[in-house]
Amino acid sequence: MSIVPHLINGERVQGTGRSADVYNPSTGEVTGQVALADDATLQQAIEVARAAFPGWRNTPPAKRAQVMYRFKQLLEQHEATIARLISEEHGKTLEDAAGELKRGIENVEFACAAPQLLKGDYSRNVGPGIDAWSDLQPVGVVAGITPFNFPAMVPLWMYPLAIVCGNCFILKPSERDPSSTLYIAELLIEAGLPKGVMSVVHGDKEVVDGLIESPHVKALSFVGSTPIAEYIYSEGTKRGKRVQALGGAKNHAVLMPDADLDNAVGALMGAAYGSCGERCMALSVAVCVGERIADALVEKIVPQVRALKIGAGTSTGLDMGPLVTGAARDKVKGYIDAGIAQGASLLVDGRDLVVAGNENGFFVGGTLFDRVTPQMSIYTDEIFGPVLCIVRVGSLEEAMQLINDHEYGNGTCIFTRDGEAARLFCDEIEVGMVGVNVPLPVPVSYHSFGGWKRSLFGDLHAYGPDGVRFYTRKKAITQRWPRRANHEAAQFAFPSNS
Ligand code: NAD
Repeated sequence: MSIVPHLINGERVQGTGRSADVYNPSTGEVTGQVALADDATLQQAIEVARAAFPGWRNTPPAKRAQVMYRFKQLLEQHEATIARLISEEHGKTLEDAAGELKRGIENVEFACAAPQLLKGDYSRNVGPGIDAWSDLQPVGVVAGITPFNFPAMVPLWMYPLAIVCGNCFILKPSERDPSSTLYIAELLIEAGLPKGVMSVVHGDKEVVDGLIESPHVKALSFVGSTPIAEYIYSEGTKRGKRVQALGGAKNHAVLMPDADLDNAVGALMGAAYGSCGERCMALSVAVCVGERIADALVEKIVPQVRALKIGAGTSTGLDMGPLVTGAARDKVKGYIDAGIAQGASLLVDGRDLVVAGNENGFFVGGTLFDRVTPQMSIYTDEIFGPVLCIVRVGSLEEAMQLINDHEYGNGTCIFTRDGEAARLFCDEIEVGMVGVNVPLPVPVSYHSFGGWKRSLFGDLHAYGPDGVRFYTRKKAITQRWPRRANHEAAQFAFPSNS
């Protein structure tokens, strides 16, 4: 059976460590193995990155950016292969896989602006004959640890920007769907990146702990579930590293009584059930303000949830594929059982879905609960599956209180035609990314992505302008070149301009 190898110094490396099964979730079959690095393999990647750093740090930003131009072209050229690799191991539909790649490519485009992004600021004559500027210097060897649900896009949030900023990067992708991530990294080498600048090391907790403990790894970017985000943030910062750790989510959509219901239902369907609900920005709670809009929503959405087209991710024309693993499927079914036991009203039950020809795939059908209350585990927890919960409240204030009281604050959305309500919502909601009639308000690459509360640990958001700040250190330089004839006497008072 084929083994997905590591990529170190531009070469495929099998390593000497353990390995793990990789599945095709649409069939339920093991299709290969992924190497899980031991410490020796990780140290090899770290050493290669350290050796490459001095040369890469001094490569002009415009030259670094040229690698990204070629990388973008290669990604576009290989879109169909990458989408197929994603779909075969993740299970999402081919169209959805191509969509995540396109959003990832937007981050490569942003990185192409490196010379502009790294210009710093300059001030002439901050004092007599004195000039000052701030310089943005790379951090060194940095690492990224990424989740299964976006094997192309989330790594592309991190390393193109880190690399054009002059850093060397070690990527530890999810061990559940590693093939597309490796394929994309090899395209970056093909684009002309010096070989040691980027390595891919597969693995699990052992590799992550090795990255945390290495004194040579100066910064860690993490995207994944909240408990692991908290662990990496606390262990990494304890060792003096820069850490940004993005965690889990529970994203609410508020439906105001004046919402354009047809648009809202279409938006909710895509955002709740797209990618089988395995998105950190998935809308998993619809908060209806008033009984009338709640009843109207139920009437319109139930037939659409029943009509979802579900099948093998690699087929075309589908709405969603399977969950990523058998364990993920069982966990989602467990939450549906708990929702029934805790008294929610189950309107559509996806537990017994069988896909003809793919009977062993990890499928759960679209599921819809009404009359969900904040005490139920289907409301409190991130289910990460195709389950939408309807909560009924009496006012916008009550809806906002509910959202603000939730431990997560990644994304949210309000559906309304009322500008006053939308403005209040944007001003006072305690969530990092807000949509107004936009169900998945994932910021474009020249803004930054990040949640609030237990959805993000760290001070800076991911990619965009915050990404540049995360992957660079500021240095402030003040200089004077005195004329030889002007010798100044010693000054003992603190220098100022007044
Ligand atoms: P996960 O936390 O299980 O895994 C993420 C990464 O951490 C993987 O590379 C994994 O190998 C590693 N890991 C797993 N267990 C570890 C351990 N004990 N110690 C150290 N490292 C460990 O997450 P997942 O299941 O791959 O992804 C789904 C989660 O990611 C969801 O909670 C989702 O909301 C979140 N997510 C968040 C964002 C965001 O931007 N906030 C984006 C995508 C996904």
